[in-house]
Amino acid sequence: MEDWRLTGQDKYMKNIELKLVKPDEIKKRSSLWHEHCEFCMETIDNTYKEPCYCSMDDYRWICMQCFNDFKDIFNWVVTNND
Ligand SMILES: [Zn+2]
Repeated sequence: MEDWRLTGQDKYMKNIELKLVKPDEIKKRSSLWHEHCEFCMETIDNTYKEPCYCSMDDYRWICMQCFNDFKDIFNWVVTNND
């Protein structure tokens, strides 16, 4: 699969556990906080209106679009945190 968003993430993001982060949880974060999607680099900050995913340590973030596009090749395990 060729995609401009794939830049070697398979070395550290395969089979990892992710949690779903809902917009109301994102809204509670500081206005100083922001992250970028690991794939498309979209900015995710506290005004972000869509659910997205992050690694259990809050370090890696993935937007919904990239999650849906790459979930089959990355084999992520989603943990429901509610
Ligand atoms: Zn993305």
